[in-house]
Amino acid sequence: MKSVLNQLSQLQELILARDEHRLTGDGAHLARLNEAIESMTVGLPDNVRSFYSRLITRDHVIMAPVHKGSCAVCGMHLPISQVQSVRQCQAIQYCPGCSRILYEDLNAPQWVGTTPSRGEPRKNGISRFSAETLMVPDMVAGSAADAIEILAGKMEAAGFINNSDALIGSALERESMLSTAMDFGLAFPHIRGVEGGSLTLACGVSKEPFEWDASGTKTSIVFLITIPAAVSAFYMRLISGLTEAFLKEANRNALIDAETPQALWKALVKATRNTIK
Ligand SMILES: [Zn+2]
Repeated sequence: MKSVLNQLSQLQELILARDEHRLTGDGAHLARLNEAIESMTVGLPDNVRSFYSRLITRDHVIMAPVHKGSCAVCGMHLPISQVQSVRQCQAIQYCPGCSRILYEDLNAPQWVGTTPSRGEPRKNGISRFSAETLMVPDMVAGSAADAIEILAGKMEAAGFINNSDALIGSALERESMLSTAMDFGLAFPHIRGVEGGSLTLACGVSKEPFEWDASGTKTSIVFLITIPAAVSAFYMRLISGLTEAFLKEANRNALIDAETPQALWKALVKATRNTIK
């Protein structure tokens, strides 16, 4: 059963990667993605495939992590016996609330930040999921792996995420499926299923553009993003807002010119003021 769950979660990643690619990419990898999705769908056991087909027409997030005894997507509290069944992986378990396929990854990194106390002013725009402490204006990286390691370490050191090693592993796994590097020297590595709080974004800037992957794409601005399963749809809006902001050369230069975390944060807030609500 574990292997079927792995197949399903890879399939979901491919489908979400295709959604992201349609939104921000140039369409160059669509044929390859479609082919991989098709062959993986055909490879599912018959009974699972029919259920999967019904789920996928409704929403592209078909898998729901179990977090603290509840479905992390719809929030439904699960019976203890079902949580145990998910843990034992003997049969596929569906959430009684949203019908998604439940899984549990005890080793997954978690959001461990502090929630704002009552009475604190409500944050707007990018301040809702990033902070000055997550800015790296002087990133020295020679590859995607370097950049991801630096930014994941920053997220852990700043007290937002635990288990940065697992975070790095998941981000690199996602990169190996389809590179998140884009035009204009931008890259958006990300990790889904980081539960416990909100979406979190760290930004690293390399003064010297470096080769992100084997294709030789030059990158200088990297956004590492952790995504709780329930806000996958919002994540799409976030990357489209970031892409829109940084199509403008002046906005990219403002990030590259920033010398301190404070200046980088200020430039990021300013550039995204109208594109991220
Ligand atoms: Zn649910």
